[in-house]
Amino acid sequence: MIIKANNPTLKSWIDVDVNSDFPIQNLPFGVYSDTHTKHHACSAIGSYAIDLYELANHGFLSNLNIPTEVFNNAYLNDFIELGKETTRALRDRLSDLLDSNNKELQDNKAVFNKIFKPQSGINLLLPVKVGDYTDFYSSIDHATNIGTMIRDPKNALMPNWKYIPVGYHGRASSITVSGTPLHRPKGQMKPADAEVPTFGPCKLLDFELETAYIIGKSTKLGESVSTEKADDYIFGMVLFNDWSARDIQTWEYVPLGPFLSKNFASTISPWIVTLDALEPYRTRGYEQEPKVFPYLEYTGDKNVDIKLEVAIQPENSTETVICNSNYKYMYWTMEQQLAHHTVNGCNVNVGDMMGSGTISGPQPHEYGSMMELSWKGTKPLTLNDGSERKFINDNDTVIMRGYCQNDKVRIGFGECKAKVLPAN
Ligand code: MN
Repeated sequence: MIIKANNPTLKSWIDVDVNSDFPIQNLPFGVYSDTHTKHHACSAIGSYAIDLYELANHGFLSNLNIPTEVFNNAYLNDFIELGKETTRALRDRLSDLLDSNNKELQDNKAVFNKIFKPQSGINLLLPVKVGDYTDFYSSIDHATNIGTMIRDPKNALMPNWKYIPVGYHGRASSITVSGTPLHRPKGQMKPADAEVPTFGPCKLLDFELETAYIIGKSTKLGESVSTEKADDYIFGMVLFNDWSARDIQTWEYVPLGPFLSKNFASTISPWIVTLDALEPYRTRGYEQEPKVFPYLEYTGDKNVDIKLEVAIQPENSTETVICNSNYKYMYWTMEQQLAHHTVNGCNVNVGDMMGSGTISGPQPHEYGSMMELSWKGTKPLTLNDGSERKFINDNDTVIMRGYCQNDKVRIGFGECKAKVLPAN
């Protein structure tokens, strides 16, 4: 299928820096507020957000049959619920209006300031109301590293790992948008050499470099989604920091898996980059051996080449990039995750969020968590200001970025950023 708005030759009449995440080929969706606006849906071009409510109010979207009120919501759920045909038509229309050959909006100077808002002057809000959040564990390099560290290097992967896209149900209430600080969690932990557990602020606070996809079409209870149809159910992707308290996790996780070590905060980037916009960057994934069950088989290139980085910025200091990874290293694809999630009839709803699991690559600088980068705290990292990190300190800001680039176009996700405050 040809997606019109992805045409790499398109140029906008709005100036877009070559390193911008938001050229005319991206057109992601978000929600913003500012001193005049409580919450309007928006898209992005260059350094501007595009107010979709104002755009509709001024008649620029009149042929699309979209109720204007869906752009005047705190969340994008009702807009996404309209279906991919409609959201795709809107992205195509935005692409037309921003195209340098199109004069409709370009020549309408009177409305420019109403519709285009410098991103530096607005607040980007949590874009969706997440109903249910599931986190997978789909990076083979990550699962191998963790298994090597905490179990046995010879049997690093659990016997189920290459058969099942392993996952667990997370908590939606503590998902926040980039820019929202979090407090270091408190909890129980038991150091390996201690007889009894202790209680207090977590000492081994970690990030997890992840992406997440947002469900764009609901299923009925009892219904399953095939890998072939899965893309119809995926609206788009965000960057995702799935904060983890490693010491709390080690003590609590047996036998039911992570609980308070994971549910205190999860940070997502504010722009949902549509699956449509990511199509040009699809790539082949790892060879899957042993052969997967038929319901997990798929054809074509289903991985995505998304370059990912993580930086730590200590208070009053500059940032240091500590990791460069790539989404293409995922062993299980989004389509396989969704097919697996629904194979038992479990229903999914618009706005549900599915985390990838920590995304590590094969090289040490591609590891997607401090646990791996510092190898369980045995190899501290040195930051640009000379300070060392085994895990994340109070007042550190962790910043994740991601973008796709081929020989024609670069599109990106913006930032997923949050500061760690001392424990309450
Ligand atoms: Mn995770």
